[in-house]
Amino acid sequence: MKIINNIFDLNKAIKNFKGFGFVPTMGGIHEGHISLIKNSKKTCKKTIVSLFVNPKQFNDKKDFNKYPRNLNNDIKILNKLKINYLFIPSVKDVYGVKNIIFRLNRDDKILCAKYRRGHFEGVLNVMNRLLSLIKAKKVFMGEKDFQQLFLIRKYLSKKHSVKIINCKTIRDKNNVALSTRNNLLKKNEYKKVVLISNLLINFKKKVINKKNLSIKINQIINKIESLYKVKIDYLEFRSEKDLKLNNLKKKNRLFVAYSINKIRLIDNF
Ligand code: AMP
Repeated sequence: MKIINNIFDLNKAIKNFKGFGFVPTMGGIHEGHISLIKNSKKTCKKTIVSLFVNPKQFNDKKDFNKYPRNLNNDIKILNKLKINYLFIPSVKDVYGVKNIIFRLNRDDKILCAKYRRGHFEGVLNVMNRLLSLIKAKKVFMGEKDFQQLFLIRKYLSKKHSVKIINCKTIRDKNNVALSTRNNLLKKNEYKKVVLISNLLINFKKKVINKKNLSIKINQIINKIESLYKVKIDYLEFRSEKDLKLNNLKKKNRLFVAYSINKIRLIDNF
């Protein structure tokens, strides 16, 4: 694995090669990231992983500062996976040029776009820059961040002629979706996440008809908030295809975002 720290070396390394599988990350590499990388290695001749904690997608500076970082460990794991390149750009590499400012359409200001102002604009910004630098053939992204995947496909895939590949959410043995942010959870907080995740998985299984759906959703929100002392931003069934609110008629997912002691977690089932 070759580590690349600047655009000059990146251009030198990737020139004359089209066909990269690209896995963008913010580091804190876990099995979720690893599944994306394995997927890329299976279907692309060369794999490039980027590691960049993007300041522009954090609407809260404290959240950015406390985001878990462990570069040495990440390098060790990625080395073992035998990827071709690890690109670790500086803020200047990403934002030193005039960047396009993305604005979301009104329809897209839902879920996390509604509750984390500027977040996806920041995500689209960095992905636009990375895609124009790397010119990958395929980008591998996790369904754990389903709305991110959806918006990148919608706003960037045509512009960069790149295929966005959905990869399944990887969960631990207790059904908790792996996430770098889980490293911030104390033991008792993690236990709550286990209970909430399983409660929502069972809720989705049980709600097979649409009768009184909004009442049932409100009941479960109240139950989770009062039992576990967490703050739920949203709990909504939305269509997988277009993220429109869904009354269970079409293929849907149950989307949730909540905070436990200011640690914000998202998932979908
Ligand atoms: P992050 O480093 O959190 O920005 O994530 C980088 C990529 O890994 C994104 O495409 C995420 O959706 C994906 N990812 C994160 N957690 C998981 C997971 N548990 N399962 C599958 N993909 C994941």
